[in-house]
Amino acid sequence: MLEANAKVASPQLQAMKELSDAETPSVRRLLHYVAPVVTQERCIDVLDRFVQDKELLAVAVVDHQRTPVGIVDRGLISEIFLRPFSRDLLHNKRVVEIMDAKPIIVDINAGIDDVAQIIIDAGMRHMVNGFIILENDVYVGMATGHALLEDITHRRQRDLYVLAHYDQLTGLPNRLLFNDRLEQGCRNAQRNHKMLGLVFFDLDRFKYINDTMGHSFGDRLLLEVAARLSASIRRSDTVARLGGDEFVLILQNLESEADAIVVLTGIVDKLREPMPIFEREIQITASLGMAFFPDHDRTIDGLIRKADAAMYEVKERGRNAFLIYNAKMDHGKVERMSLETQLRMALNNGELSLSYQPQIKLPSLAVVGVEALLRWHHPQLGAVPPSTFIPIAEETGLIISIGEWVLREACRQHSSWIEEGLPALRMAVNISGVQFKQRDFCTLVKRLVEEGCIDPQYLELELTESVVMTQAEHAVQTLMDLRALGVKLAIDDFGTGYSSLSYLRKFPLDRIKIDQSFIRHIKNTPANEAIVRAIIALGESLGLETVAEGVENSDELECVTSHHCHEVQGYHFAKPLPGNDFSVWHRQFISSNRCSAGSNV
Ligand code: C2E
Ligand code: MG
Ligand code: MG
Repeated sequence: MLEANAKVASPQLQAMKELSDAETPSVRRLLHYVAPVVTQERCIDVLDRFVQDKELLAVAVVDHQRTPVGIVDRGLISEIFLRPFSRDLLHNKRVVEIMDAKPIIVDINAGIDDVAQIIIDAGMRHMVNGFIILENDVYVGMATGHALLEDITHRRQRDLYVLAHYDQLTGLPNRLLFNDRLEQGCRNAQRNHKMLGLVFFDLDRFKYINDTMGHSFGDRLLLEVAARLSASIRRSDTVARLGGDEFVLILQNLESEADAIVVLTGIVDKLREPMPIFEREIQITASLGMAFFPDHDRTIDGLIRKADAAMYEVKERGRNAFLIYNAKMDHGKVERMSLETQLRMALNNGELSLSYQPQIKLPSLAVVGVEALLRWHHPQLGAVPPSTFIPIAEETGLIISIGEWVLREACRQHSSWIEEGLPALRMAVNISGVQFKQRDFCTLVKRLVEEGCIDPQYLELELTESVVMTQAEHAVQTLMDLRALGVKLAIDDFGTGYSSLSYLRKFPLDRIKIDQSFIRHIKNTPANEAIVRAIIALGESLGLETVAEGVENSDELECVTSHHCHEVQGYHFAKPLPGNDFSVWHRQFISSNRCSAGSNV
């Protein structure tokens, strides 16, 4: 039931593993010793044994080497001696003459389930009489059919219990057992005047990891998380998996909130350590929310709702933290739910739009491209930042339709600017890992190109490092297919993900975008400057151009220019602008004579 090489770290997991051990036990545990009779023994003596021992169902008949050769059962012997004059006629006969010479004989290591099958096939008579057990070909005892049946039914019942109460993947208690334990825990807390802490735990962006790295990767990750959580709690506590990446912890016998905080801090620290999964090391974070019994709620439902609300508050505030419930959090979940629903409608209601941020060539300062950045203007909430809604779009799969809309809209804007008389600029569009993983992603791009929406040399797709690296095999092929269409490819936020340089060599890329965290205060941060220089040198060696993202001031511009970065993008030149505003900005930028108009992509 548990994966063979899954880590089993806690007594809870261990117990579950023992309970659910898939191996059938052997008949050894059914063995009981019944003195056999030898072949030459007289029938009358055997009859006496049955008369004296009312419990005796059958005896084995063995030869002088203690090899079983037959069986005499109560039915057989009583049938013989009930006949008229049989006692007088048969009492001197040897048992070998009346025995059943075809008993069921099994080795002591035979599996109980296999033996049951043999008995069923051989006839139910054997179920009553039982069977003979050998060890190293020598008689060691017998087992009754009754014991066999009892063993099988007990195991079935236990399996059913395990199936009903434990999560199949991680071996942790499931929702049913969690509910039981929580009820029990609250009762104990009340009796002992202690506190109980209920913790809701959700991995950050798990769906995204699952979608981009595959389900077996996701399963391994969950196993690792289960093991780390189990190792972080005390024996009396419970960690359960409610489904997906949702875990809960029940912390019992707490004296104060501080006790629980120690445990949560331990969990956060444990999770922070890189997780080796399929020869990769990944780092994940989680959002945790906690509520206390009886302080926050005296009912089970209320306590669950409050711990859940605290966890959603963490998600809303940007994840990767834990929070203890307070009354202001009560409607957190409702808000998130509605954000998800409203995002679904946003596309149809025309609430989504694109802004464009110029990309500028160095040292000429020619405008050579723009990056299309998605905007959501919510009728009540106003501008919702991409960092809030893009993860939701990815988790819900909405990013597929939104991403297609972004591509079409960016192409439409591109044509519209050309009609207006702007030079043809490169149009960079961000592609989510979820989109990229879609089988027909290439087909979509191909369709856009074939429909004449854009000349492919002006379309650039931005992918993050992690997306490309984690789907390396798939990625190389897809990137080649895209390249064959003539579109350009860039790695976004370079330096923040899995920088596998050897892989980078394999990918048909055009550009590396250096993450803005390295550009920030570059002049006063020697480490950042060194990294930026290294990335530019790496780009040079691979024949890739480099773009510095997030250049906000002339110091940063000067520094990246001096290191021969090819292009820059950032607030220093312009914030992302709506399509119409961009063309106005473009004209002004050119007429201010700071650069020469560029169509040189
Ligand atoms: P990104 O692709 O790395 O985009 C650059 C982000 O940096 C943008 O944030 C941009 O507004 C911001 N930025 C540009 N210059 C500066 C600067 O000088 N200083 C600072 N502090 N920030 C600057 P934005 O628009 O909030 O987008 C955030 C992220 O959301 C993007 O990062 C991208 O990963 C994602 N995103 C945006 N639009 C799309 C889209 O259409 N599809 C997908 N899949 N993701 C998108
Ligand atoms: Mg980008
Ligand atoms: Mg970026």
